[in-house]
Amino acid sequence: MASIFTRIINKEIPCEFLYENENLIVIKDINPKAKIHLLIIPKKEIPSINELEKEDKEILSDMFFTAKKIASDLKISEGYQLHFNVWPKGWQEVMHLHLHLLSDL
Ligand code: AMP
Repeated sequence: MASIFTRIINKEIPCEFLYENENLIVIKDINPKAKIHLLIIPKKEIPSINELEKEDKEILSDMFFTAKKIASDLKISEGYQLHFNVWPKGWQEVMHLHLHLLSDL
C-alpha cells in the first residue's frame, strides 16, 4: 500500500506543495512542533535511512540542498534544525523517508 506521502505526491490527498522538483516535494507538517515545521519528502518511496541505497545519493543530496535553499528563502538560515527519525523505535511514524526542518525564527 502506498504511503500517505506517496498519496500526497500523487495528489490523491489535497496538500499545498511549498516547493517541488523532479526528486522531492516540501510541505508543512500537519502537526507542527515549531513556528516553522516543514517536511522534505523524496518522490521515491524509500522507507527510511536504513533502506537507502547508493543509487539514492542524488536524492539525499537534493534533500539537503533543498533544506538550505528553503531556509534561505524563509530567512531562517540563522537557526534551524534538520532531523530524520529512523524506524518506529526511533520515533518514525510514516515509513516514507522525510527530512524534518524546524525553526522558531
Ligand atoms: P515521523 O514521526 O518522522 O515519521 O514524522 C511524520 C510527520 O508527518 C509527523 O510530524 C506528522 O505530523 C506528519 N504528517 C502526517 N500526516 C501528514 C499530512 N497528511 N500532511 C502533513 N504532515 C503529515
